[in-house]
Amino acid sequence: RLHNTIMELKGNIRVFCRVRPLLDSDIGAGPQSLQYPNSGDLMGRALEMSVASTVPGQPPQKHDFAFDRVFAPAVGQAEVFEDISQLVQSALDGYRVCIFAYGQTGSGKTHTMLGSPGDRGMIPRAMDQLFASANAMKEQGWSFEMQASMLEIYNEEYKDLLGKGPPAGKKHQVAHDEDGGTSITFAEALDVSGPEAVATLLRQAMRQRAVGATAMNERSSRSHMVFALRLRGTNANTGIQAHGVLNLIDLAGSERLGKSLACGDRLKETQAINKSLSALGDVIMALANKESHVPYRNSKLTYLLQPCLGGDSKTLMFVNIAPSADAAAESLCSLRFAAKVN
Ligand code: ADP
Ligand code: MG
Repeated sequence: RLHNTIMELKGNIRVFCRVRPLLDSDIGAGPQSLQYPNSGDLMGRALEMSVASTVPGQPPQKHDFAFDRVFAPAVGQAEVFEDISQLVQSALDGYRVCIFAYGQTGSGKTHTMLGSPGDRGMIPRAMDQLFASANAMKEQGWSFEMQASMLEIYNEEYKDLLGKGPPAGKKHQVAHDEDGGTSITFAEALDVSGPEAVATLLRQAMRQRAVGATAMNERSSRSHMVFALRLRGTNANTGIQAHGVLNLIDLAGSERLGKSLACGDRLKETQAINKSLSALGDVIMALANKESHVPYRNSKLTYLLQPCLGGDSKTLMFVNIAPSADAAAESLCSLRFAAKVN
């Protein structure tokens, strides 16, 4: 399989592009011109976008992109999950894994990560797989303890979605210990024993998120949601221990607030889009370029995830794309961002 070799070839950062189907609510705007060259099975690696020229009479401009995977709209959750299942599995072997969903609001990030009860996304599928595998590994002497936490980052502040939050006058703070563990003051990390326990916890977190927000849409498009599962495995026969972490992150919407900005204008972008999104891009690029300084401390998101980004940890970014014509300018920006970190 293709994905078996990607890691060895490319180091530890991968980018998967997922284009969602055109929805009824998009029809008025019509589709963007997106092509999927050489992918009869709809899971290729290339994406071609044509953008009408602003000069009358000129042919459209073609932009070619290549990613580790390109999922065309017809590809469903189960098939997408198949391509990340090995990465999810590596958390049981003691790896630290981050899986992000990046894209403009409405592009399918939450659908990809959480999904809905009838069309479950990566988080519930990952939980099913991890608990099933942990169960199967009992035969070889392995036992696992798993703890889940769920944070939101809004306006550069952490908010725990599982507990009551800090007492008056206090804030959540993140501390990293020597062996790469992360603790967050006043935040809950709950022992979970199976996928049902996680499902209950996710529902609880989503309720908290909704209750805490006066304008739910505005908030969910500007906040990051970080689901983290810590896995501590011990093998009773060999004494071997494996401590892994799986982080699944539904990022804030990547849309530029001033639509007239050209993408790639670093300074203006930093001011115009969520600060920690550009900080995340900077960290991933510094890691990809093997730079000696990685600017983890520039945002709450990258600081939280520091032990799970870089080193021998593994990172996957979904770049979600909305296919309607009115989303074309943002799609191009998202694809360029993704191509830079790829
Ligand atoms: P975001 O979280 O990026 O703002 P959503 O995940 O909420 O976007 O998706 C926007 C809408 O598109 C939702 O109604 C969602 O159900 C739908 N949608 C997104 N991706 C898909 C997909 N792959 N298949 C079917 N519907 C999708
Ligand atoms: Mg969302």
